[in-house]
Amino acid sequence: MASSTAVLVSGASFAGLATAYWLNRLGYRVTIVEVAKGLRRGGTPVDIEGETIDILARMGLADAVRAKALPPRHFAFKDVDDFTLGTVGVDSDEASPGRYEIHRDDLLDILFGAVADGVELQFGRSIDRLEEGQGAVSVTFDDGERRDFALVFGCDGNRSNTRKLIFGESDQFTYFMGGYFFLKVVAQTGLLSANVSEVFSVPGRMAMLNGYDDRTDIGFGFRTEGEIDYDYRDRAQQRRLIQERFDGLGWKVPAMLASVADDDDFYFDRINQIRMPSWSHGRVTLVGDAGYCVSPLAGFGGSMAIIGAGRLAAALDHYPGDHAAAFRHYEDGLRPFVEEVQERATSNGMSMMCPADEAELAERNQKIAAGDMGF
Ligand SMILES: Cc1cc2nc3c(=O)[nH]c(=O)nc-3n(C[C@H](O)[C@H](O)[C@H](O)COP(=O)(O)OP(=O)(O)OC[C@H]3O[C@@H](n4cnc5c(N)ncnc54)[C@H](O)[C@@H]3O)c2cc1C
Repeated sequence: MASSTAVLVSGASFAGLATAYWLNRLGYRVTIVEVAKGLRRGGTPVDIEGETIDILARMGLADAVRAKALPPRHFAFKDVDDFTLGTVGVDSDEASPGRYEIHRDDLLDILFGAVADGVELQFGRSIDRLEEGQGAVSVTFDDGERRDFALVFGCDGNRSNTRKLIFGESDQFTYFMGGYFFLKVVAQTGLLSANVSEVFSVPGRMAMLNGYDDRTDIGFGFRTEGEIDYDYRDRAQQRRLIQERFDGLGWKVPAMLASVADDDDFYFDRINQIRMPSWSHGRVTLVGDAGYCVSPLAGFGGSMAIIGAGRLAAALDHYPGDHAAAFRHYEDGLRPFVEEVQERATSNGMSMMCPADEAELAERNQKIAAGDMGF
């Protein structure tokens, strides 16, 4: 039997660290397993807004996060001649206390700092098997060790291992949005000014630059009919894929391709959402991308993970000793918001960022010119 307070979190990113923080504060003995050798760094800045700010405040982290806020950026849609079709967002000298961005790594470090002393964190480790018994979940790790935990929290991202072990192959929950996204952070390139994002789209493809701080994000997105066959561990293959898809495109694309060549440290994934009829099963529940990925197009994945952890903690606090009621409360309360964010990303995101054909591109450009961009 598990000690009733021993709980396991799989994944040490935003969902995992925030969930671990709250569980520790509620009096649980928390173990986190993270498959990577350390915190997984890199990626584009994270939006902090709305309820996330309140939750960070309740975690006592709002000031630390705010202190790392990046200046606001405005977003410019460009044509092949670098003419600005329209802009959205605020300029860097305008204050916007209700919404800001911070480096993904800064947020990870702050969350990690908040749990480092209170929880057992094991890197390079993963769950092999989960078996639910009467009062506990029996967990077999990838090194063969077995331990019992009262509750298990799957915070292991879009391709969640916990989801697969409990609910079965992940494809049944994957809503493919019709494309792929590549992102690499490089040192400042001189390709654009600071605190600006630029997007250049042709039918089926888009190139994006984010300029902030001393860095530039190089982003590429492309549409596909269905999912493409590639090995998600083979970085060289993914790099070749991007080079081939974007070869011959104008604007700043040749310089962007040159600046991401020969480096395997980047983010590349299908653009998808996770839609599940239920996020919990028995003593196991999912938090963040694992249960309800809203897609990179929503620009809200980091915030959603923190909101999910905060809502789950409130539910566990509200129903002490009754995880089933707590998980139900967590899900009933959060699901409408998740669905709203997912719906927004589905209806607007892809056609705005990466229009499918000339007609959709022309329609998008009209909306941009009219200032009617829906976000
Ligand atoms: C390195 C990295 C870079 C990213 N860059 C971007 C970006 O540029 N743009 C964007 O829109 N989104 C990006 N994301 C996704 C974004 O972070 C998430 O959408 C969002 O933060 C939700 O957080 P999450 O904690 O639910 O999932 P994630 O941030 O994806 O974290 C999941 C964690 O679980 C771990 N994990 C996976 N499998 C296992 C396993 N079997 N056992 C234990 N742990 C496991 C992963 O290593 C990771 O640390 C990135 C994610 C990562 C990991």
